[in-house]
Amino acid sequence: MSEETRSESRPFEADVAKLLHLMVHSVYSDKSVFLRELIANAADACERLRYEAIAEPALAGDDFKPRITLSIDADNRQLAVEDNGIGMGREEMAEALGTIARSGTKAFLDRIEAAQNGEETALIGRFGIGFYSAFMVADRVEVTSRRAGTDAAFLWSSDGKGSFAMAPADAASAPRRGTRVVLQLMEDAKSYTERFTIERLVKAQSGHVPVPIALVDKPGAEPSEITDGAALWAKPKAEISAADYTDFYRSIAGQFDDPALTIHFHAEGRQDYTTLLFVPGTRPFDLFDPDRKGRIKLYVKRIFITDDADILPRYLRFVRGLVDSADLPLNVSREKIQESPLLAAIRKSATGRVLGELERLADKEPQPYAKIWETFGAVLKEGIYEDFERRDALLALARFKTAGAADGWRSLKDYLASLKTNQTAIYYLAGDDIGRLQSSPHLEGFRARGIEVLLLPDPVDSFWVMPGVSFDGKPFKSVTQGAADLALIPLTNSKEAPKPELEDSVKNFLAFLKNTLGDAVTEVRASDRLTDSAVCLVAPDSGPDRALEKLLAGAGRLSAISKPILEVNPRHQLVVKLAGLGDEERVFKEDAAHLLFDEARVLEGDRPADARSFSERLARVLGKSLGKAG
Ligand code: ADP
Repeated sequence: MSEETRSESRPFEADVAKLLHLMVHSVYSDKSVFLRELIANAADACERLRYEAIAEPALAGDDFKPRITLSIDADNRQLAVEDNGIGMGREEMAEALGTIARSGTKAFLDRIEAAQNGEETALIGRFGIGFYSAFMVADRVEVTSRRAGTDAAFLWSSDGKGSFAMAPADAASAPRRGTRVVLQLMEDAKSYTERFTIERLVKAQSGHVPVPIALVDKPGAEPSEITDGAALWAKPKAEISAADYTDFYRSIAGQFDDPALTIHFHAEGRQDYTTLLFVPGTRPFDLFDPDRKGRIKLYVKRIFITDDADILPRYLRFVRGLVDSADLPLNVSREKIQESPLLAAIRKSATGRVLGELERLADKEPQPYAKIWETFGAVLKEGIYEDFERRDALLALARFKTAGAADGWRSLKDYLASLKTNQTAIYYLAGDDIGRLQSSPHLEGFRARGIEVLLLPDPVDSFWVMPGVSFDGKPFKSVTQGAADLALIPLTNSKEAPKPELEDSVKNFLAFLKNTLGDAVTEVRASDRLTDSAVCLVAPDSGPDRALEKLLAGAGRLSAISKPILEVNPRHQLVVKLAGLGDEERVFKEDAAHLLFDEARVLEGDRPADARSFSERLARVLGKSLGKAG
């Protein structure tokens, strides 16, 4: 028997089996999304054929009008979704319907596995699950397909329980070209054989799929059109309702939420193109997957070309939608199109437009904008260091949580408006946890002067706030690095200005600390950034700040963390008292020196330098004070 005529059974890939288990046992109430998923696949297949037929017209033959046909057979409780698209060959089919290709689906599975009971239903509701969702409503699925330009047709079938079968299909009843998916519906899913139900669902979920959809409501009946397949983006804006946009967004993005921002415009002039783009309302699961690319679809004169054209830069990878160009040539390869200077011009203009629209929203409707920032800000910030040309625009779009201002998001413009007398820099504190940042001792001197400090909790933050980056002429400066230079800025509510000159005893104590700690610190010095705490660590003036250094070291990109500077609050009671102790208390002072250093480390979220000597010292110091008390 030849490869082509053989029948066989194959197991599903492990992840598919997991997904199927989830589908079958899902208590997700809105199972009807399966229809949207099958129609989306059918439409993709038609679009792929349309594209391939440009180079090879024979593929479309005399049947070049794309269509999707839904057929219901109530007596046999069957629903079929058929397209005259590209179709699948034998191996293609086994691959496509036996494994999981989308990175998003894998990320989704991981999330589901981590989710608590019940939580996963909400997740399924937010995520398109593709072909396998058919098993939410069917206990058996048969797919018959004939690849365009070939004669042989194949049948894939499965009950969704671990394996699928592949066999040659009956050539007479298989589609002439394309794919037919037949669902043997479960008893409680028989409403999907009602004309009314199907019509309502198609209009609601797939009303703007750019391929016409027809319905055959009983075996042998004539197909009647439900949707005309007109391109929504080509219609005048005035004719499109918000619900139309949402429906279109859901079908193009495979998400179930509402878009947070819709950008629809027609550009004329040097390039003639239409764009319909959406900022999603929620985070996709694979937003931070390094392989995740943008997914803007590129059309040329209504013909789908590719969703791989990197139309928007990486830091806008959460934006979904399409660009339809009137000028790009159709008769060249995808690769050529990608390199075309016309496309480069479209990329530039579309990117500018998206940022422009975000700016407008930020200006006019700060609340909805803040929500977008909360969802995607961490990604947009990547642009600050990736896109030099648009750095200023992105900095203007950025929002921050700060110490020293009321809760809520602050822009850099807000920040500059509340600069203190003699303040010359935009201060920031980077780290990995907003709570720890808020209680960092480094902020004390700034709080006491009413100086606002940006709190930067995202990993990406340490990369963009590099030396040399400034906003409106003001440089960014880490509060954990270098001298704080706060002496020139007046305290807000202090009665007594601190004495600038240090007592001799304190000076000596600082020298003693350096002596005792040795090479663990580069320097011990009096601090003007501390008001309440006794000590903190800061980074030397040059080089990375403390947060970036830790990040680089954690990623193995830095061989050794540089030695920090220990800053000491010369007015702190503890420090003043320790400084007053004589030489007979040397051992106690040494213990105190190490404990102060460890305290500064712990405040940064680190561990004591040496756990064993830490606990010995702590025991000695506690023992001493208990001895006194007793
Ligand atoms: P996705 O569509 O996101 O890739 P699916 O699970 O829905 O995921 O489909 C898997 C693959 O099966 C598709 O990428 C496609 O290659 C193939 N496929 C599904 N339906 C069809 C169809 N009607 N015609 C041609 N290929 C299809």
